[in-house]
Amino acid sequence: MSLPIADAFSQTDSLEDPLELMDEIDQLKKEKDATILAHYYVDGEIQDIADFTGDSLKLARDATQVTTSTIVFAGVHFMGESAKIMNPEKRVLIPDLLAGCSLAESCPADELAAFQEQLRAQGRQFDTVAYINTSAAVKSLCDWIVTSGNAREIIDRVPSDREILFVPDQHLGRYLMEVTGRRMILWPGSCMVHEVFSIQDLIRAKRKNPDSIVIAHPECPQNILEISDFIGGTERMRQYVMSIAEPKTILVATESAMIHAFQKAAPQHAFVPVPGIMTSTGETCACNRCPHMARNTLQKVRDCLRNEGPQIEWQDYFAKARDVLNRSLLK
Ligand code: SF4
Repeated sequence: MSLPIADAFSQTDSLEDPLELMDEIDQLKKEKDATILAHYYVDGEIQDIADFTGDSLKLARDATQVTTSTIVFAGVHFMGESAKIMNPEKRVLIPDLLAGCSLAESCPADELAAFQEQLRAQGRQFDTVAYINTSAAVKSLCDWIVTSGNAREIIDRVPSDREILFVPDQHLGRYLMEVTGRRMILWPGSCMVHEVFSIQDLIRAKRKNPDSIVIAHPECPQNILEISDFIGGTERMRQYVMSIAEPKTILVATESAMIHAFQKAAPQHAFVPVPGIMTSTGETCACNRCPHMARNTLQKVRDCLRNEGPQIEWQDYFAKARDVLNRSLLK
């Protein structure tokens, strides 16, 4: 799916009072028998009205606990697909159908199928391990799905005499090769948000805050990970900052909306988004905001409940993707 994202940050709820929108959403949730799941990367006000917040793994698991007939998934398209795959009988609404993911789009299903065919023709024995940030069509072509939180454990399950084709994130794949000691064939994909962190900016930020701690998502390039004090997926980062009692300045190399969840979990610290403090005027920049996640607004959450759409429709290949997700995430 090719996405017009240039105007994503200009989408605001400016004409409507956020508090009134929140009340309306609360009322609609009851009327429509709905539960709201929100990713840590969407705006804080959406996280505040959600029934469940979390990273991809936590939300995929939370989706199986929902008892209402409707799920509203405030995140990006592949996450809505995963919620539908795990709950075929439920209606899954998403606030904006165009909320995609540059990482998922870097690995189209037809290109992956062709590459797998090429490897098989060479007689290579391999398992395909996909990061959860992939379309359902790609998941259906894979043997395992991982998140940054469970990747190590899943990779240990792949028999040592088989090669691993890891898709789509080359940076996460390289990091996993290091921590697991397994060699992998890496798909050359990456996330537009985590790719932009500049090593110079980070070093400068560290110099300005000598006692600070750097935490980074493993989707970041290797040079950022090398000077980070802690590397982990979003949920692990949240647990980590909660575990530090003494107030610290923490430089955050991941999507900056995540700071809302950090501040709620560990208010004793000062959280600084890495590229944000680097502009010459001292202003924060938006280059570490995901434009796809930013398509979610309170207004669109209200509208999708009110209109009962857009929704994720069941596709034939969801059944195969479901087997892979169940095997990988629920055991
Ligand atoms: S932050 Fe990156 S990986 Fe996450 S949804 Fe946005 S583009 Fe995709």
